[in-house]
Amino acid sequence: MKHVCVYCGSSEGLDPAYAQAACHLGRTIASQGLVLVYGGARVGLMGHLARAALAAGGEVLGVMPRHLVDLDLAQKGLSELRIVDNMHERKAAMALAADAFIALPGGMGTLEELLETLTWAQLGLHQKPCGLLNTRHYYDPLISLLAHAEQQGFLHPRHRALLLQAHEPEPLLHALNTFRMPLQDKASWILGMTQTRA
Ligand code: AMP
Repeated sequence: MKHVCVYCGSSEGLDPAYAQAACHLGRTIASQGLVLVYGGARVGLMGHLARAALAAGGEVLGVMPRHLVDLDLAQKGLSELRIVDNMHERKAAMALAADAFIALPGGMGTLEELLETLTWAQLGLHQKPCGLLNTRHYYDPLISLLAHAEQQGFLHPRHRALLLQAHEPEPLLHALNTFRMPLQDKASWILGMTQTRA
């Protein structure tokens, strides 16, 4: 694991603990010699995360669509700012560059990025680990919703287990680093519950 992609809010959230968690994660990624991959913005938790990683001597790759760069939303001083044509290209570039994914608290954009990453793992399109940094239990409702989806037969336990979680960066990075996607043939992995019932 060398490149860690972090999805997080373009807002700060109300509780200062969220910005503190973003800074802590940025510093920890840098101190472990990992490269931070993120959306390139200077605003919200995204900005806190990147500036903390840079201040700790870390390498940071930002990937941003031109329309957001033109709105002066890019963080200055990144190791690399990759400008792409649209949001689809941004997500593809971030996913390709990353060896693992983390979601800090965020809004719809963060949820969309996290759930797409998990969905693609569920479909066997990548084998990269994905985890939540559950600061101040922000993600408890999502964790409950996924448990509900499993109880109601919409989510296979093996796919729900793809989402790792921790309350602090160090144990989360350790869990991501030691995660191994279960070895089995692709069709049964994807079909999951359908095949169990057949
Ligand atoms: P959200 O969690 O809704 O704040 O969205 C965070 C994600 O959405 C980021 O990873 C970006 O892809 C994108 N995004 C949404 N709003 C902005 C913004 N004002 N500046 C930069 N990126 C943004």
